[in-house]
Amino acid sequence: MPGRSLTPADTHCPYCAWQCAMRLEPPEDATPAGPPLVVTGRDFPTNRGGLCQKGWTSASLLSVADRLTTPLLRNVRGELVRATWDDALGLIAQTVQRITAESGPEALAVFGGGGLTHEKAYALGKFARVVLRTPYIDYNGRFCMSSAAAASNRAFGLDRGLPFPLADVDAADAVLLLGSNVAETMPPLVQHLAGVRAKGGLVVVDPRHSATAQLCDDGAGFHLQPVPGTDLVVLQGLLHLLFAENLCDDAYLAERVDGVEEARSAAALWWPERVEAVSGVPAGRLRQVARMLAARSPRNGRSAVVLTGRGVEQHAQGVPTVATAINLALALGLPGRPHSGYGPITGQGNGQGGREHGQKADQLPGYRSIADPAARAHVASVWGVPPESLPGPGLPAMQLLARLGAPGGIRMLMVHGSNLVVSVPNSDELRRGLAALDLLVVSDFVPSETALLADVVLPVTQWAEEEGTMTSLEGRIIRRRQALPPPPGVRSELRILHDLAVRLGVPTGFDTEPAAVFAELARASAGGVADYSGASYARLDAGEELFWPVPAGVDGHPHPGTPRLFTRRFATPNGRARMVVTDHVPPSDDLRPDAPVYLITGRVLQHYQSGAQTRRVRALADAVGEAFGEVHPYLAARFGLEEGTPMRLRTSRGELVVRCRLSPAIRPDCVFVPFHWAGTGSVNQATSDVCDPVSGMPELKVCAVSIVAGGIADDAVREGAMSGG
Ligand code: SF4
Repeated sequence: MPGRSLTPADTHCPYCAWQCAMRLEPPEDATPAGPPLVVTGRDFPTNRGGLCQKGWTSASLLSVADRLTTPLLRNVRGELVRATWDDALGLIAQTVQRITAESGPEALAVFGGGGLTHEKAYALGKFARVVLRTPYIDYNGRFCMSSAAAASNRAFGLDRGLPFPLADVDAADAVLLLGSNVAETMPPLVQHLAGVRAKGGLVVVDPRHSATAQLCDDGAGFHLQPVPGTDLVVLQGLLHLLFAENLCDDAYLAERVDGVEEARSAAALWWPERVEAVSGVPAGRLRQVARMLAARSPRNGRSAVVLTGRGVEQHAQGVPTVATAINLALALGLPGRPHSGYGPITGQGNGQGGREHGQKADQLPGYRSIADPAARAHVASVWGVPPESLPGPGLPAMQLLARLGAPGGIRMLMVHGSNLVVSVPNSDELRRGLAALDLLVVSDFVPSETALLADVVLPVTQWAEEEGTMTSLEGRIIRRRQALPPPPGVRSELRILHDLAVRLGVPTGFDTEPAAVFAELARASAGGVADYSGASYARLDAGEELFWPVPAGVDGHPHPGTPRLFTRRFATPNGRARMVVTDHVPPSDDLRPDAPVYLITGRVLQHYQSGAQTRRVRALADAVGEAFGEVHPYLAARFGLEEGTPMRLRTSRGELVVRCRLSPAIRPDCVFVPFHWAGTGSVNQATSDVCDPVSGMPELKVCAVSIVAGGIADDAVREGAMSGG
């Protein structure tokens, strides 16, 4: 790689929240066409030296053919053309000033990403509130963790993804895993399930007999295969049985939990046969699972873990579903007990840190509420601004995006680390909003589908070209390290935000050095829920294992961090957890005669999120190069489909064309489509943008769809395969 000196570096994978540890080194036999670095797995608690195919091939990202290395501006003919940084930043600053003068700061908005480092996420939140002075900032983590976060905050008074180290899962006697195909999306997790499989204690809840559900085969546990959108019903059924058969940990409930009687009354409505009628899960199997979980709970001297993923969280009833999973965990006496508990499996690389430090519409650094006067005063003092100058809470992502280009709405949007037009449900509507903006600015390192719609594209550093910190799914703060300098012409987002702040009259306060930004973040988080004030680059680089909260030390003794939460009390005002009353609501877009099949969505092993990165890695694109619609042979026969047949899937919002893939592993009332592709195969053209009213999480996981087969040109599928990658 001409002009780029390479340095061996111990760092972490650029993709998911597993944050597998890897070493990057220059290859011995470098070729111009090959990746500039060799990846090897490092021993680390999450991956133990292993990586998935995405991780092994991640160095290819550093030499993708269409890497952005110069700013782009849209000219009068509508073409994106090369520009200088001065022209690009000048246009952004002028537009901010003009829109602010004409419409006020609330016509400006920022959209971040769960893959950004803490330092970038923190700087972005500060930039929105201090420089743009807009309340409108949110991020794509809204589509990832928000339902689990809201439910955890209600029940425990705190949300940290896993509130225990991953090693606890290894030792558990039972694991109930709902809505997550980890064997494909996070394969290194499978080794942590070896112990529970050997004990016959794994329970997987998924409408597909997925690679993860198959881990339950041969006596390793149970697979429950409910109708999409009925996970809450299954959980209520399990809770019903615990109460009805006196299987709860009554001493734990009396000592540590409020709201038990109300939850008992709600669960009483879901006897096993009624659960079977709604969800399709056999009553007898439900009884087996409830009794197995109870037998392996702490009251019998054993341990169990309940885990949720996006499959149960990305619903209009995502928060109640997670709340019911937590009710179940509390009834079993799990949270705060050794090798036991409840936790969501975080998806994006820094899905946790992104919300902890200021990208979320209602939060300031340290997981503080932006509506809390004391929190505003503390953060304002660190930022050197009056508390009253800080805007109030903004809007969750889908509401923010609905204001794009609307009368009196948002006129300019800055996007960082997010490929919205592939990731957002009902994406045709989003495209209309983006087109109506005065200015769309996208910072990315590749021309993603969203960048290609922008008026200004800013080329930024990626992963192995930068220093920073992330927080993994278990609340562990980790270091991202630079292995090579960015290509000439590329800048870090910290530098971009600094330069824009200066142009907009804020000459100080936006450092460009990640270590300095982290030190400021640590001060801003001091005393907050997510207190990082005792963490530092020095401690992390010395190899300390720091789980948040890690407050400042006392009398020269550094705080060791907090691997396990809730061991003595919960983070609620009275120290007790809360059971929450929940009830089932069918999917917002449910089956009907003209849409008789459930459309469900998810991921495949080779691709990550919108695919903007993984579609550019040859080995991954060659393995799975286009979207597909997985259907049961019964459903295929009903609609005249065969393996490889193009089919059109249509909802009231939009349609897509994908090839049929036959599988007996899926329920016969569903079609599964992975969401990594743009173009005609982009499933989020059809998914629902109805949101959970508490979390703002859209119902990405289920809607009703019609299937049309026959008369579809083969080119229609090819278009989807090639787009954007
Ligand atoms: Fe690990 Fe996730 Fe990267 Fe795969 S994508 S190597 S599971 S961090």
